[in-house]
Amino acid sequence: MLKIGLTGGIGSGKSIVGKAFEMMGVPVYVADIEAKRLMVSNEEVRKLIISRFGHGIYDSNLNLNRKLLAEIVFNDSESLKAINSIVHPAVRADFKRWSNQYSQIAYVIQESAILFDTGLYRDFDKIITVTAEEEIRIQRVVDRDSAGREQIVERMRNQLSESERIARADFVIYNSTELILPQIDLIDKQIRFLASR
Ligand code: ATP
Repeated sequence: MLKIGLTGGIGSGKSIVGKAFEMMGVPVYVADIEAKRLMVSNEEVRKLIISRFGHGIYDSNLNLNRKLLAEIVFNDSESLKAINSIVHPAVRADFKRWSNQYSQIAYVIQESAILFDTGLYRDFDKIITVTAEEEIRIQRVVDRDSAGREQIVERMRNQLSESERIARADFVIYNSTELILPQIDLIDKQIRFLASR
């Protein structure tokens, strides 16, 4: 079974592409969603978060105060590093466990915005990057999140450049005005061929 990473910058269309693969029957692990789940449901992760950020970060029902955590890490890079050093290894281990159940099938996908920013890309056999023109990505996120343009542009500036992501990918899906399903279909065939060798 091959492990495939699916990445792309903000608003590139990672989620939409991940959903398309899922509809074709490919198991897709969405790192962002699983990270949020682990912060609540994994006792070890909870303990580490409490020891770094204090008991007040969870309420009495063990709900994480995400707003408070976001404020802390947004204003303090050491706290951001700390939360990442707790959550990233937990997601990595959880993905390994999760993928074990699919050992008999051709491939699984992990969707993650930060594959190249962390050492995570090394866990994957092949990487797919989704890309779209910057102006289109900005407009899609403005429409999706009702967010301010400046805020989105700022987040993009903090991410890896599109050209770097494309250079480091094994497969690229172009999602500006192109049709994505034929591209996904072709990549699926190529990965299945690689998996069968
Ligand atoms: P983020 O990193 O911000 O979560 P993402 O890469 O997962 O973004 P999506 O959420 O898949 O991106 O796409 C961003 C928005 O653009 C969504 O509202 C999605 O429905 C829309 N979108 C993506 N691709 C297309 C497309 N080809 N045509 C029209 N809308 C699209």
